[in-house]
Formats: sequence, structure tokens, C-alpha cells
Amino acid sequence: MMVDWNAVFDNFGIKKVTKTDKTKSAYLPNGKQRLAIEAAGILPADERPAPSFEVTVLFDPVTSIVSSSYYYSERSPDADRNPEPRMGHGIISSWLAQGDKVLIGNIGSQLFAAKLDFAPVSQVMASQEIIKCANREVIFDLAMAATGKPAKRSIERAEFVRNPYIVAAVLLRSDGQCEMPDCTRELFARDDDSPYLEVHHVVPLSEEGDDTFINAAALCPHCHREVHYGKNRYALRDRLRVHIDALEA
Ligand SMILES: [Zn+2]
Ligand SMILES: [Zn+2]
Repeated sequence: MMVDWNAVFDNFGIKKVTKTDKTKSAYLPNGKQRLAIEAAGILPADERPAPSFEVTVLFDPVTSIVSSSYYYSERSPDADRNPEPRMGHGIISSWLAQGDKVLIGNIGSQLFAAKLDFAPVSQVMASQEIIKCANREVIFDLAMAATGKPAKRSIERAEFVRNPYIVAAVLLRSDGQCEMPDCTRELFARDDDSPYLEVHHVVPLSEEGDDTFINAAALCPHCHREVHYGKNRYALRDRLRVHIDALEA
């Protein structure tokens, strides 16, 4: 599946970097790229040196920002037509190489550039990369632009069938307290006034853990999320393991 760049950028164009672009250190953007640059609020400068601005580089493992300028080339005395604007500075002097297929696009006022050889193959991966690099304003704009109902996709998944007696026994063992050592968080109440705890598998079922009383622990929502997603999850898992083992000894 190819990335639909129309769904990503407000405007964009793609061009292969020519030998002239590179030898003159002046990249000649094509019409669609000029549209993107100008939609980001950058107009060709007459003054010298041309003012510098930043371009956000996407998908490049080494470079995340390049400087650029956008200026009218010197009009040659015999040419009567309008001079075509060029891009100077780091974007062409150091970042781009001859033969690179470069995409230049804008989302609102943020200007992006990407070498297509580095581009991801899926829309989701492209969007995730852009979210990492986009400025706050652009992210809010993208979110605000989304209206209505999200597309639905059906997912088939295998679920583990848990033993309800283990859940019940672990909740009884917990005596209404989170079983993570030293956790003192207050628990909110369920409709029946019992404290809200979640029963977690110390070694997850997805890692071949067992649905057994000694592999289960009652955790508050905070500890439960942290033991799954926190930076210290493996250390927490070990603490919980030691604690539950000691209870059962
Ligand atoms: Zn869990
Ligand atoms: Zn807790």
C-alpha cells in the first residue's frame, strides 16, 4: 500500500534533484512545490542575503530540520521572463543529493521535506511520523479538521477465557487493597460499593503465563497501567512477582 500524500499535506510536489540544483547550490522547486512553500506563508525574497527559515525533515534517520531560503534568482539581462524562485542554504548545500526524489509539502504554516526513498509504506506510519515532527498548532489543526464518525474496521481477535473463580479469589486475597507493594492509592467504589481493582496476570497470558491464582494480582488502575506501559514495567513485574510468591509461600 502506498502513502496517499494528498491525505497528508495541504499541498505538495515531488521532484528529482538535478545536477544543476546541486552544482549551483540552488534548488529549483517545481510548480506544486512552490505552491506548498507559498501556502506555508513563505514568499520569494528580493533582498540579499535571502532570509532563512526552517524546513521540517520527515523520515530521515539523521536529519530532522534543515535551513532554507527562498529567493528570486538574478534575472539574466537578456531574459525577459519572470525569474524562477530557488531554495538555498542547507537544504541543497548539505542535505539533498543529486538524484534524490524530494517531496516538499505544507500542513498549514509548517513546511516539510522528505526524501521519498526514506518514506514509510503505510499511511498510518506516515501519519505517526508526521505527528512526531509537527508543531502544536499543526497538530491541533489536524485534529480540529476531523469531523464526524471515524471509519470502522472489523478486527477478529482471539480472547483468553479467564477463570472467574481465580478473579474472585484474587479479589478476596487482596482484601480491597492494590497488591503492588507500597501502593497506597485510594480506590474508587463500584456500584456495589466494593473497591475497584483489576485482576492482572503477573506473567501475561500473551507471554505464556498461566491463568492461575499465583500468577494473578489485584491492582489499582494506576499500577495496572504502569505494569503494562510504564518505563519501569519489568522492575514492577519483578516486585509484584516476589510479593505474590511471598503471600503464597
Ligand atoms: Zn494486566
Ligand atoms: Zn496500585
